[in-house]
Amino acid sequence: MPKTKSAPKPAAPVATLALRQSALVAMALASIEVYRRECVGLLIGRRDGAGFVVEAAIAYQDAERRLGGARADPAAHRRLFDATNDLPDGLQLVGDFHSHTEHRGRRGEAAPSQRDLADMLDGHVHVIVAVNDAHARRPFRNNADGSFSGTIGERHLRLAAFVRTARSGPADLAARRLPIELASADPGRRRRR
Ligand SMILES: [Zn+2]
Repeated sequence: MPKTKSAPKPAAPVATLALRQSALVAMALASIEVYRRECVGLLIGRRDGAGFVVEAAIAYQDAERRLGGARADPAAHRRLFDATNDLPDGLQLVGDFHSHTEHRGRRGEAAPSQRDLADMLDGHVHVIVAVNDAHARRPFRNNADGSFSGTIGERHLRLAAFVRTARSGPADLAARRLPIELASADPGRRRRR
């Protein structure tokens, strides 16, 4: 329910998406596998204050790929969604990812479409992986706009993370970008106390 009035917001720490390298690799390879079509999958991890830690990225194996986007099979989505309520060690579903790829000569962009904005859920993070032909090899790095990019083989990948913003109505579609950082290799958890 939209709040009509809210107290001045306290200065919140900058929320980020901390990404394990294994999750980065999984999203990158899933995007490369179906290159020139889109992949879609789930992000498993933890909420960490206002941010997220993504421990694993799981691509749907039988997503339906049509022009303009990939969709998970609804029954498969339901099974996976239910299963994520019972993961070990406090892991939970924290969001999803999908790729944007070159289409009719236009490079894929790491920005949400209107449909992507409409599909965003409160409390979830949505990662878009833009995958395109690489023109030069680039190591993965953080960019000033909060995205994370680099090359693997012949492909350039740019990942950007979004959370939906408060809405005044169904037509009010907007998202806020969360900076992506690579989580430390240390598997120790950043738990809230
Ligand atoms: Zn999209």
